[in-house]
Amino acid sequence: MNLSSLPPFVNETYRDFLIPEHKAAMLAALAQVRAELGREYDLQIAGHPEKGGPDKLLSYNPSLTTELIGMHQKATAEQAARAVEQAHAYFPTWNAVPAELRAARLFRAAAILKRRKSEFNAWMVLESGKNWLEAEADTAEAIDFCDYYARQMLRYATPEPLVQMPGEHGQLTYLGLGVGVIIPPWNFPLAILVGMTVAALVTGNTVVIKPSSETPTIAAKFMEVLHEAGFPPESFQFLPGSGAEVGDLIVSHPKTRFISFTGSKEVGLRIVELAAKTQPGQRWIKRVVAEMGGKDAIVVDSQAADLDAAASGVIAAAFGFQGQKCSACSRLIVDATIYDEFVAKLKPLAEALTQGPAEDPSNYMGPVIGAKAEKTVLNYIEIGKSEGRLITGGAKAQGPGHFIQPTIIADVESTDRIFQEEIFGPVLAVTKARDFDHAMQLANDSAYGLTGAMYSANPEKIARARAEFFVGNLYINRKCTGAMVGAHPFGGFNMSGTDSKAGGPDYLLQFLQAKSIAEKIIG
Ligand code: NAD
Repeated sequence: MNLSSLPPFVNETYRDFLIPEHKAAMLAALAQVRAELGREYDLQIAGHPEKGGPDKLLSYNPSLTTELIGMHQKATAEQAARAVEQAHAYFPTWNAVPAELRAARLFRAAAILKRRKSEFNAWMVLESGKNWLEAEADTAEAIDFCDYYARQMLRYATPEPLVQMPGEHGQLTYLGLGVGVIIPPWNFPLAILVGMTVAALVTGNTVVIKPSSETPTIAAKFMEVLHEAGFPPESFQFLPGSGAEVGDLIVSHPKTRFISFTGSKEVGLRIVELAAKTQPGQRWIKRVVAEMGGKDAIVVDSQAADLDAAASGVIAAAFGFQGQKCSACSRLIVDATIYDEFVAKLKPLAEALTQGPAEDPSNYMGPVIGAKAEKTVLNYIEIGKSEGRLITGGAKAQGPGHFIQPTIIADVESTDRIFQEEIFGPVLAVTKARDFDHAMQLANDSAYGLTGAMYSANPEKIARARAEFFVGNLYINRKCTGAMVGAHPFGGFNMSGTDSKAGGPDYLLQFLQAKSIAEKIIG
């Protein structure tokens, strides 16, 4: 297999659930998944299932908080260390497998995910509270990561030719690094887990996967896909457990070569610090790929072409998946000349959003992920009420889950906490900009720098936003969520992380080391 013999990469399409056939497939998958709820899952080291400590990790449906989704192990310290040791022992074998064969397994994983698309959607609806369309987009992105990274690996398998010195044969080859610790978040429970895992595996590394404690069942289901796709059981270890306990241990282990993390700024910075401390017996500088939080702004300029389109974009970016996307719009910056008119447009749009259990496809908004998130978000809403003017929402919503109303707080100052701190829930802070200069200044007044968007029809302002808006992913005249693999390589500046550009042509390099070989031609 080589890259030129493959059809070009195309993104997986989303199904329309208004079409009876697709709706029926989702309903059947939900019924199938429901029949499996509450099962106990084992952790896996070298393919062998094991129980963890006596304490179990329980995952509940955030839309119906009494419903147990899955019961998982909490790995012990001994198991965590053994998982890293085992992955280390198998690394030379896996790294020696030709890139073409590793990529072939990834194409197979994509095909399996395609076949099980509705089922994975259903697990996400029930375990993470995603609505049907958000779940469909998540599964599609997971498929895209497999299809895209497999192609990228084939590209690195035939590197660009080097300058050849007279009398020498020069070559550059790419090798895996070693054991990678994979620590994903819960908010793209399939796509990010899959992307981080397969990028490390296809480049020849072995991995220890510590799934998010909020969505471990989806992760356990993905382990089935890796097995079926033919990844050797020794190449990946499944190690659920407490982030603080198991996480610290595997990050600090001297045989860990790199850590691929996506999550909050606080945990990411701690990992960077732990990884920087050399352990006895450690032979390398650990690499950390850390994608962290966001406090993403949309700027609506006085010369925006269509204020209704801008308002719809803001609402979708702020409240899609309850604002629990790293790319979600949580700061809205509106030019003073259209401020009142624009804020007035947002209120009815937010109030028209349907909310309730994610399983019901008529609900646009579901719950926030858990009790802790609910408390944090409600606390920020109270802070916001004291900092600005409540436009709509501002309270918990009715229902058997962690439902919070879409909340808009206007007249916020840039120094206010709800303008600066990541809330990770359905809360939008709105600020008035005196003019375009001020709007750019406000947009960049953040410790983060992940996504941003600007609505304007003025080419000079667009050019200025391109140059000045300091974010890893800038969108013009469209919303700031919804990055597509291959089209919008994803990753942020500043405290949003190491700007790894997931889903982009450079991403795999972070999991590879290049070896340059020069051979003197004899005779
Ligand atoms: P989190 O930081 O709480 O947890 C992320 C992962 O780290 C989880 O698997 C968790 O169990 C683990 N963890 C917790 N403590 C640990 C420790 N001491 N050592 C090792 N691992 C530990 O984040 P979350 O709540 O799962 O996800 C939400 C956050 O992720 C938000 O800040 C969001 O912006 C961010 N995020 C960023 C991106 C991006 O691409 N930049 C994408 C998605 C989410």
